[in-house]
Amino acid sequence: MFSHNKRLQYTVRVSESNPALANLLLEQFGGPQGELAAAMRYFTQGLAEEDPGRKDMLLDIATEELSHLEVIGTLVAMLNRGSKAKYAEAVDAEAEQFRKLQGTGCDSHVTQVLYGGGPALINSGGQLWNAGYIDSIGDPTCDLRSNIAAEARAKIVYERLINATDDPGVKEALGFLMTREIAHQQSFEKALYSIQPNFPPGKLPGMPSFTNVYFNMSQGEGDMRGPWNSDENFTVISDREQQCAVDGGSGLPEVTLKADEMKALEQMTLRLRSDPLSDPLTGAELGWGAPGEVVPSSTVPQAKANKARAGSKK
Ligand code: MN
Ligand code: MN
Repeated sequence: MFSHNKRLQYTVRVSESNPALANLLLEQFGGPQGELAAAMRYFTQGLAEEDPGRKDMLLDIATEELSHLEVIGTLVAMLNRGSKAKYAEAVDAEAEQFRKLQGTGCDSHVTQVLYGGGPALINSGGQLWNAGYIDSIGDPTCDLRSNIAAEARAKIVYERLINATDDPGVKEALGFLMTREIAHQQSFEKALYSIQPNFPPGKLPGMPSFTNVYFNMSQGEGDMRGPWNSDENFTVISDREQQCAVDGGSGLPEVTLKADEMKALEQMTLRLRSDPLSDPLTGAELGWGAPGEVVPSSTVPQAKANKARAGSKK
């Protein structure tokens, strides 16, 4: 069960109204790297988890992410608080209100007019939050890797938001939220490597002849070597012939069809066959002229002449 504590996980102190900044912070409220996405990611993974340690960790972190959602949502609400009241009470003249909605530094029409200054479940561009942000696959070695990447992305978004404000209280609260993503990334990495073995994911091994092969498919100036394709780690195949039909077969697709399927296929192929000896007149040719050429309307239906002219230009 959930219970709620009215004290925030980190104290929110906002110096002054700033609806434009509130809109930026929505990225971490209803955006793909935001706190709701994080909470739902770990909560749903935790419900299905069989390992008692991982289950406990996922539910701990999911609940903390909900507490972060509360902090970032409160920041949005505080930043919008003053202007929300002024809009609601029509304190400014219409022209002044309109100017504020359009002006730089107060780019708040979505949050102020559509959502009334509250934290909406949208990202900073107005995109609605959706469950497609969560890419859990139900295998712990995959999901932990995805969680590590999600924490890394969230850390970077917070870093960019911190760089966009000089409000010390907002900076500090964002710094706390950013720091917790660093802590979570470590927990997920520890949990991943406490599963041995954890690579490759799943139970089936790869095909041994291809597991440690690097295909040098893009060739030319810029070809580089590094640990990702070193001879110590990989068999590197650059030969174009050796990159084709690596199974040793023909490289051509085959399928065995039943007699009735074969008959239908032959019938369809015959019906849709092309005639390589034909040269049909097309709609494009009917309108073909020189660039900028004006053709008198009385001479328009002369497709053959146009085509001949076009041909002679080649
Ligand atoms: Mn968080
Ligand atoms: Mn986190």
